[in-house]
Amino acid sequence: MSDLTVGFKRIPCSDCNGTGELRIESENINENFDVEKQTVITECPLCLGLGFMLPAGPQ
Ligand SMILES: [Zn+2]
Repeated sequence: MSDLTVGFKRIPCSDCNGTGELRIESENINENFDVEKQTVITECPLCLGLGFMLPAGPQ
């Protein structure tokens, strides 16, 4: 009974799990031919870094 009606439901983004960022693991090989693992964090393109899906607006 205490739930407030909100304008829209926030649906967590499935791509970034609601974090708004994507972690991409990449491997670089340095000059010693060692493999260096890097984690690149980028803004999630699906939710534009918001972490949730924007509701479809009226057209
Ligand atoms: Zn996302």
